[in-house]
Amino acid sequence: MVATPIGNLADFSERGREALAAADCIAAEDTRHSGKLLAHFGIKQPLISYHDHSGGRTREKLLQMLRDGASVALISDAGTPTISDPGYALVKAAREEGIEVLPIPGPSALIAALSVSGLPTDRFAFAGFLPAAQSARRKRIEELRDEAATWILYESSHRVLDCVDDLIAVLGEERRIFIAREMTKQFESHFLGSLDQAASWLRADANHLKGEFVLVLAGHQAKPGEDERLPEALRIVTLLKDDLPLKKSAAIAAKITGLRKNDIYRAAVQK
Ligand code: SAM
Repeated sequence: MVATPIGNLADFSERGREALAAADCIAAEDTRHSGKLLAHFGIKQPLISYHDHSGGRTREKLLQMLRDGASVALISDAGTPTISDPGYALVKAAREEGIEVLPIPGPSALIAALSVSGLPTDRFAFAGFLPAAQSARRKRIEELRDEAATWILYESSHRVLDCVDDLIAVLGEERRIFIAREMTKQFESHFLGSLDQAASWLRADANHLKGEFVLVLAGHQAKPGEDERLPEALRIVTLLKDDLPLKKSAAIAAKITGLRKNDIYRAAVQK
């Protein structure tokens, strides 16, 4: 598994280049895209197009080469293979057969963004790309809302604003976010602030909406005083419980007290 640059070609490691030059074959997500990278470094090894979803035939062909003792390097368009990129199914199949899989580590957008975010790095969760459809996207954000660790998303230029708007709708305006745009490239820019400020920053300049994005979200932190409002929320739930389902009562109690619906629901169930 050979990591390749996420923008700046100078980030390609010597070991990565050597591994590609020494491989019997290079499996690539997009042979045209990777062809340019390889040409730049004068690497002429045969290229095979590989996608986890392109059917098992190529995978079987690569596995057979590996069984025969050949060395196969896998690269993706950018960064570390298998991270929101092809490769997982091949690695899994190889491991199941006891075939050795070695990492040639290097750039990955999520680690690069996290490392400069200024948000806690001791615990983090990678959530990849959110669904394209708004309802599914909001549902996924709801699932992530109570995550205490820092969490990281990948996003494309044409959806980043919608995504931030949905983050505001579910998490509120105050949650902290770090945006890493076009890392290692000419027009790299960063933003750290509240979700509300992030939406303004993105709207302030059309250039802020161009390129590739990583969004790093602060984990959920219980607000001081939150527990003090819980008895009142539970009293409301108790008053409503004969007339409404628990979920609905919790939603109303959440609106009145400002607590989160799920917290009230959980506390009511545990009561
Ligand atoms: N495998 C790659 C890695 O290890 O980072 C990620 C591949 S994923 C298909 C591509 C996404 O990664 C982009 O849509 C963007 O969210 C993020 N990304 C890749 N390069 C980036 C860069 N230079 N700056 C900001 N985000 C980047």
